Amino acid sequence: MKFILKISVVFAGLVILISGCATLPTGENIPVYSIGGKTYYPLSALCDARGVVVQYDTLLRTVYLTKDSQRVSLRIGDSLVLVNDNPLHLNAPVDVYQGAIAVPAQFKEQVFDVWFRQTVFPVRRAGMAKIKLNKVVIDAGHGGNDPGAIGRNGLREKDVNLEIAKKLSVLLRAEGVQTVLTRSTDRFIPLSTRVSIANRSGADLFISIHSNAARLRSLSGFEVYYVAPSVSDAKRAGLTARSSALNLRDAVFASDNQDLKAIVWDMIYANSRAESIELSHSVCKIMDDCIDANILGVKNARFQVLKGITMPGILIEVGFVSNANEERLLRTQAYRERLAAGILEGIREYSQEMAIVETSR
Ligand SMILES: [Zn+2]
Repeated sequence: MKFILKISVVFAGLVILISGCATLPTGENIPVYSIGGKTYYPLSALCDARGVVVQYDTLLRTVYLTKDSQRVSLRIGDSLVLVNDNPLHLNAPVDVYQGAIAVPAQFKEQVFDVWFRQTVFPVRRAGMAKIKLNKVVIDAGHGGNDPGAIGRNGLREKDVNLEIAKKLSVLLRAEGVQTVLTRSTDRFIPLSTRVSIANRSGADLFISIHSNAARLRSLSGFEVYYVAPSVSDAKRAGLTARSSALNLRDAVFASDNQDLKAIVWDMIYANSRAESIELSHSVCKIMDDCIDANILGVKNARFQVLKGITMPGILIEVGFVSNANEERLLRTQAYRERLAAGILEGIREYSQEMAIVETSR
């Protein structure tokens, strides 16, 4: 936003030179201009739609575009652009319209559509199955005095998590699914409170949203965790037989024995482990089509927040704030929206597969 303002001040004089304009919708709702008989697009709208990061060097009057490992630079009034350091000559120069940078159609077709491709987005089509779930708990990790991971350029995990959680909530509600957010503001919530909010909600699913960090700054990607019970299946079978007459809830709270507590939680969890694994795979599979990031896959771990959850639950690490490129991406609304939409489609696929399982029983 800041750079557009600068441009409008510096190049306002050029606007007079530009002839007639028509605004036509394209598939991505990007306005189309006609400048001197040639078709142009506003650069900022293209970048927003594709999640491309824009930086402007006022001194060199050069715009730098980056997405994943692709880099493009261009200058106003110049028809030469650099694509990953390779020169490309356009049939019309980069221009300015209404105070903002406009690029010729050739730039969109030969640069944007090739290097910053629109990732296939699973848009909900008419007739596509509705999500067959009543309620989903969405847990935005960290908050308040616990910022979570912090990127080199100051991006705070707690903010990324909350934004994606809220976007996912809006999308689910639009599908008629109720949502419960463990936090909807920048507030510290202890893990035990998150677990009890989830367990009391009567929800069908628990989705915890986090962002990753690693000492190795080159590490990047998206991954999903579920909890694998620690107790061996044989031991669990024996305990399940004995505990079938017990009220599990009472057993948990009546005992101070940590081992027993862990085993009982494991048993409760084991009931929904298969579903959690299924959900993890659905989310990863769909996300592979939604974002250009590495899909690191489904993993298991014993996250405290997932351990006490009595419904199918997963913990999603949406990306690494410690990676410069992912920190830039995670800062954009476009990327956050894409992540939320991908999680939604993963939930849809999961709910369809669960429905198939139920009807075949
Ligand atoms: Zn976290």
